[in-house]
Amino acid sequence: MRLLESEAIVLRTYNLAEADKIVVCLTRNYGLIRAVARGARRLKSRFGAGLEPFTHINIAYQEKEGRELVTLRQAEIVRSHFGLTSSAERVAALSYMSELVLEFAPPHEPNEKFYRMFKASTNALADTEHGTQAILRYFEVWTLRLAGFLPDLRACADCNRGFSETETIYLNVEGKLRCVACSAGGQGTKLSYGAYARLRATQRLSPAEFAQHGAHTGAEVYKELAQITERLIKRVLEREVRSQSQLLSYALQAQSQNS
Ligand SMILES: [Zn+2]
Repeated sequence: MRLLESEAIVLRTYNLAEADKIVVCLTRNYGLIRAVARGARRLKSRFGAGLEPFTHINIAYQEKEGRELVTLRQAEIVRSHFGLTSSAERVAALSYMSELVLEFAPPHEPNEKFYRMFKASTNALADTEHGTQAILRYFEVWTLRLAGFLPDLRACADCNRGFSETETIYLNVEGKLRCVACSAGGQGTKLSYGAYARLRATQRLSPAEFAQHGAHTGAEVYKELAQITERLIKRVLEREVRSQSQLLSYALQAQSQNS
């Protein structure tokens, strides 16, 4: 049995037998893994609080040939996110992000870019007080991009002409962006300038910067972005992600408080 080490983020845990837990986490070096943590539910467990959801940890685990489930040997906390759990909105945001990770990250397939983006997004969520909706939109756009499902944001899908930041762009049913001429005079969903500029901004900023730069962006722009990303994600998964409807209701609440 090989001992493997990696940085990881806990996505969720399940109880197993009397004293154990199954831990699902995204690792930097090996992608998504499911590990048995023996004795994790005992009072004096060697894992301590390291297996709480969304904790960033350094892990060591062993795998057996032909088995998907691995055995966790060590979990050392790099950063815990206890602070986040005091806000219902941010707990919902983290659960939703975890669900997307589970949907988009295939087991045992490392994707360092995706790992770093997820890590930066959870840190941004912890460090930015009012940026939850912005960070979620950022996370969705990059999840789609790294999985190969984000339409080209720079040019029309049909004629390849580069878009200017002030022209009217349409998202068609196939999830492609097109210019007025190619969309038969405007078939599809029209993007506002604000939403398009924010979409482009995801490509050059970190999640924390994106939230900061967008602090004065109106809630209606984030709502529009949420509708766009929701459509693109639904196309890929062919269904709704569970906590999305709950998050949209938070977004609507925030909007009614702002206006
Ligand atoms: Zn075109």
